[in-house]
Amino acid sequence: MSRATADSLRVDASRLWARLEALGEIGAVHGPNGERGCARLALTDADRDGRDLVVRWMTDLGMAVSIDAVGNVVAVHAGANDELAPVMVGSHIDTVRTGGRFDGNLGVLAGLEVVETLITAGVVTDRPVAVAVFTDEEGARFQPDMLGSLVYVGGMALEDALDVRAADDGARLGDELVRIGYAGPTPCPAAGAPHRYLELHIEQGPVLEDEGVAIGVVTGVQGISWTELTITGQSAHAGTTPMRLRHDPGFVAASITAGVRRIAAELGGTQVATVGRCEFSPNLVNVIPATVTMTVDLRNTDEAILQDAEGRLAHLCATLAAAEGVAVAQRTLARFEPVAFDPAMVDLVEATATALGHRTRRMPSGAGHDAQMLARVCPTAMIFVPSVNGLSHNIAEHTEPEHIAAGADVLLQAVLACASA
Ligand SMILES: [Zn+2]
Repeated sequence: MSRATADSLRVDASRLWARLEALGEIGAVHGPNGERGCARLALTDADRDGRDLVVRWMTDLGMAVSIDAVGNVVAVHAGANDELAPVMVGSHIDTVRTGGRFDGNLGVLAGLEVVETLITAGVVTDRPVAVAVFTDEEGARFQPDMLGSLVYVGGMALEDALDVRAADDGARLGDELVRIGYAGPTPCPAAGAPHRYLELHIEQGPVLEDEGVAIGVVTGVQGISWTELTITGQSAHAGTTPMRLRHDPGFVAASITAGVRRIAAELGGTQVATVGRCEFSPNLVNVIPATVTMTVDLRNTDEAILQDAEGRLAHLCATLAAAEGVAVAQRTLARFEPVAFDPAMVDLVEATATALGHRTRRMPSGAGHDAQMLARVCPTAMIFVPSVNGLSHNIAEHTEPEHIAAGADVLLQAVLACASA
């Protein structure tokens, strides 16, 4: 097939949309205003059902499906020379409890659409094209997040990953893999690296929509620091304990929540800081709490500033602990340095989108993605498409069909460019 013919290839956007709809029905959550979201936590029955559907689609396309020891699914579509390392497209299909139908799912299903488009057009690439579904990207049930891709690239020992306990029910990750039938025989970490890795993902923020840009050219991923704080004080009667004699973990938790907002303001730039979980014990109206467990999520594109933020948080906790007479214990839940994607791959995504007539914008990713793990082992890039109202991790998450089509066509053409020997 001539280069000119390959250039004119386009995905079947309605076929891709239909797969998004079908996968979105598994673990579907319906909102009061017609929203249709998804709750498919990693390694639950719903995750298994979603995996089963995607694997069936892969098999129907004649792809060779393998499942590795941490449950990552990799399906390979043959190229002219299968000795060559594949171009890999991937993402995840697990969601948070209040997730949408596009986060992760789009990257996987757009990969299948790329493969089906090649098959339908009779295009044989030099290199194989692989589509990957990585285990537990969200980290909502098993931490750290991006666990499957982290193990895939050798960044976490397999045994440690299998021993991780679920935040909700305490189940062991390795046991859950066996239970749902996805403890596969393929060794993990992977034996060889892909030639290139590409991931299409929704932006999950408001920037592209706000600026009327269809394609985000992702330059890298912010560094992420997740800390769990356990504050232990003195539980006592809310009516009889004078204020001056209190050792109140609830007060300290509130002060930390306000304090991390202040830290973000002081550091400015792209620094963000969030308290997303806070649990009081015993959590009663008339009892000063005995303990509070809370999390702090800090992110920055600059490692030095991220470390500065972490230092300020530690100082804040120590100061508040001393003043209130409580103990504050810190535990790291996840820590990833910022990642810069391969400049040539970033240029390729930008040039491809421009050639297809789309407005583009270079931007860092505010969220973590499997691509940042693959970037450790091969040249990697990501393509973003707009999220309506910037919403994600929300059942109202939505991306317009025209933007889904635009992103998938950029992915297709970028894969074609990478898959020639
Ligand atoms: Zn995602």
